[in-house]
Amino acid sequence: MKADRNKSGVIFNIQKFSVNDGPGIRTVVFFKGCPLRCRWCSNPESQLAKIQILQDPGKCLHCHHCIEICPAQAVCEASTVIHIDPFRCTACGRCAAECPGKALRLEGQQKTVQEVLDVVLQDMVFYEESGGGITLSGGEMLSQPDFAEALLIASREEGLSTCAETTGYAPESVFRKIAEYLDIILFDLKHWDPAKHKQYTGAANDLPVSNMKYARSQGKEVLPRIPVIPGFNDSPEDAEQFSALLKEIGIRKCQLLPFHQFGENKYTLLGRDYAYQNVSALHREDLEDYRQVFLDNEIQAFF
Ligand code: SF4
Ligand code: SF4
Repeated sequence: MKADRNKSGVIFNIQKFSVNDGPGIRTVVFFKGCPLRCRWCSNPESQLAKIQILQDPGKCLHCHHCIEICPAQAVCEASTVIHIDPFRCTACGRCAAECPGKALRLEGQQKTVQEVLDVVLQDMVFYEESGGGITLSGGEMLSQPDFAEALLIASREEGLSTCAETTGYAPESVFRKIAEYLDIILFDLKHWDPAKHKQYTGAANDLPVSNMKYARSQGKEVLPRIPVIPGFNDSPEDAEQFSALLKEIGIRKCQLLPFHQFGENKYTLLGRDYAYQNVSALHREDLEDYRQVFLDNEIQAFF
């Protein structure tokens, strides 16, 4: 099938020279929109599928210019804080462009496959030397399946190695359609227990697990990545159960991602509370015993 390079989707970043999102040097394309709501999410600006306005209240001059010019009447001031109604906002960008305090920012851009590829292909020489390529991330790239499919097909037409970082949370038919064009799949595996997965992310883990099994059955290179979150999945018992699940799927390797608070400021810009504000970050040395449980179960866990 030939790629439809005019197909467009909403992304919120293209990050070059990444060495943590698949083999070699890669360019990571961040898709907007995610079906999960992980409480610790470090990219909360990616959750809403549509383009939206972020605001830094500390920079607001309270001039009310945004309220006056918004053609959708989406802006008001409540308790001395500018409030933007995401359902009314049409993402025209006028308020962000004209804000004298630079307190507003448009998050997300509509881009075609060709526009994204034009950026990605600038670094072809680095991919060839390092074994890298393109990685689709998010948000959740499976939430824009037609755009993801077209971008992956076009990437393969250009000879790029294709990788995705995914929750695996999508109907099996959607996942299978996209997986066909992926060389490497990095699965964010959040919890082994369906009930706890649902409590902390809003959805059970049945689809991620069944899609991971499918990817393995197709001989795909699969790497589960476990975000280790305090009080959620960081006990020795959790490590035992993760190991058992990985063995059942036929996977002998995983990456551990210690909890960090890099996304905290973004919650402020979104006007949302951050549930992990007073929770300390984890470091590799904190998780050596945890990692040892995987190793004892013959799962090659690494940071
Ligand atoms: S235009 Fe900018 S500085 Fe003025 S009230 Fe709106 S957000 Fe604040
Ligand atoms: S982006 Fe446009 S519609 Fe949305 S709040 Fe700003 S001016 Fe209003």
